[in-house]
Amino acid sequence: MTAARDVVVVGGGPAGTAASVFLRQQGFDVLLLDAARFPRDKICGEGVSPEAWRLLAAMGARDDVAGLGPHALRGMRVVAPDGTAFEGSYRRGGQVLSGFALRRSRLDTTLLGVARRVGVEVREGARVDGVVESAGHVVGVRLESGETVPARWVLGCDGRWGVSARAVGGLQPARRFRRFALRMHLHGVAELSDVGEMHVGRGGYCGIAPLPGDEANVAFVLDASAFRRAAGRLEAFARETLEDRFPAVAARTRETRASAPPRAIGPLAVAVRRRARPGLMLLGDAAGFHDPFTGEGVTLALRSGEIAAGPVGDALRGRSSPQTAAATYEDEYRRATRDKFRLNRLLQAVVALPALANAVARRLRDRPRTCDELVGIAGDFVPARRALGPRFVLELLRPPR
Ligand SMILES: Cc1cc2nc3c(=O)[nH]c(=O)nc-3n(C[C@H](O)[C@H](O)[C@H](O)COP(=O)(O)OP(=O)(O)OC[C@H]3O[C@@H](n4cnc5c(N)ncnc54)[C@H](O)[C@@H]3O)c2cc1C
Repeated sequence: MTAARDVVVVGGGPAGTAASVFLRQQGFDVLLLDAARFPRDKICGEGVSPEAWRLLAAMGARDDVAGLGPHALRGMRVVAPDGTAFEGSYRRGGQVLSGFALRRSRLDTTLLGVARRVGVEVREGARVDGVVESAGHVVGVRLESGETVPARWVLGCDGRWGVSARAVGGLQPARRFRRFALRMHLHGVAELSDVGEMHVGRGGYCGIAPLPGDEANVAFVLDASAFRRAAGRLEAFARETLEDRFPAVAARTRETRASAPPRAIGPLAVAVRRRARPGLMLLGDAAGFHDPFTGEGVTLALRSGEIAAGPVGDALRGRSSPQTAAATYEDEYRRATRDKFRLNRLLQAVVALPALANAVARRLRDRPRTCDELVGIAGDFVPARRALGPRFVLELLRPPR
C-alpha cells in the first residue's frame, strides 16, 4: 500500500492549478491528475476579469501570464437587441484596471507549468473515474487505468458534471435557462477594440473577446432548442445563427476566416447542492456553473483554489477536523459567490425579455458611473450586492444627471 498523498487534485484547469499552488506554498505534497494532455482546448469566452491578476500574483504566476502578451481589456460594452449600447470601464476610485483575453489553451498550459515549477507533481493523461471511500470519508481516487491513489484530501477541479461532483452528490441540471454555447476562433473580425463585448439578441447573447494577434473569440449562448439545427453542420449553423439573431455581429464577421472548427457544449447550468464532504471539496465549475454572461468563471475558479487552501491546510495540520474543514469551505464559498450568482440570475431574466433589455440599456446609456459600477461587478472587484439593493434600482429610475 503506497503512502497517502497530502492532496490529490483532480483536473488541471484554473481551479486545479490555483489550489495546487496555494497548498504547495504551504509545504504540502500535492499530486495533480488531468485526463487531458496539454495544451488542451476549453470552450470559453476567454475574457478574464481584472481580479484574476491579484490571484495570479498570489500564485507567483503574474509575470508568466503577462509574458504571454494577453490582449488587455479595459472594460465591457453591452449591446441590447435594438442596438442601444452602453459601455463601462474597469475603474476603482481613480485607478484604471484591466482584465485580459487569452486563448485558454495557452493560459492553462502556463498555469500548469507554474504548478510544476513550485513542486506540484503533475500527471497528464490520467483520467480519474471515481473516489475511494472509507467510513464516509473520501480517502483517495481511482484512475481509469485501475490504479488507486490514497489521499488525505481530494480536490475535485474536474469541471461541470465531473466525477468529483457526482461523488459529493446532489448534482442536477438547473431548472431554468437550459442553454447551450457555441464558440468560434475567427481571424479578421472588424472593429475590435480594447473592451469585451456582449450582444443581447433573440433567445440569448453573443460575446466577442479580442485575442492577441488578429484573432477574436466569438461565442454565443442560446436556449437548447435553438441547437436542434446544429447537428453535423456546426460551422454553417454558427454563421446562420449570427445572421439571424446577432446581425450586428454577423456584419463584422462575414469576411472572417475560422482558425479552428467551432465547438459547442451544453446544457451549461448545473446546480450543486453540496460542495464538500470530509476528504473532498469541489472547486471551480465542479462547484456549480450558472451562465457565462458576467464572465467570472476563470477568476472564480482561481478564487475557489485560494478559499479551499485555508481549511484544507488547517485540517492537514490537525488544527481542525475534516468535517469542520468541509463546512468552512462550504460557508466561505457560498459567501464569496452568493450575490454575484443572484445578480447573474437577474441578468439572465433581463436577457430573456428583449423589451426589458432594451429599456435597461437605454437607462444605463446615459449613466456612465452606474455602467462603471456594473462592469466593476462583472470584473469581480466591486461587490455584487451594490447592484442588488434599492439604491441601484432608484439610480436607474431617476432622470440622468
Ligand atoms: C461558453 C462559455 C463561455 C465562457 N466564457 C468565460 C469568460 O469569458 N470568462 C471567464 O472567466 N469564464 C468563462 N467561462 C467559464 C470558464 O470557462 C470556467 O468557469 C472555467 O474554465 C472553470 O475552470 P475549472 O478549472 O473549474 O475547470 P476546467 O477549466 O473545465 O478544467 C477542468 C479540467 O479537469 C480535467 N478533467 C475532467 N474530468 C477529469 C477526470 N475524470 N479526470 C481527470 N481530469 C479530468 C479536464 O481535462 C480539464 O483540464 C465560460 C464558459 C462557457 C461554457
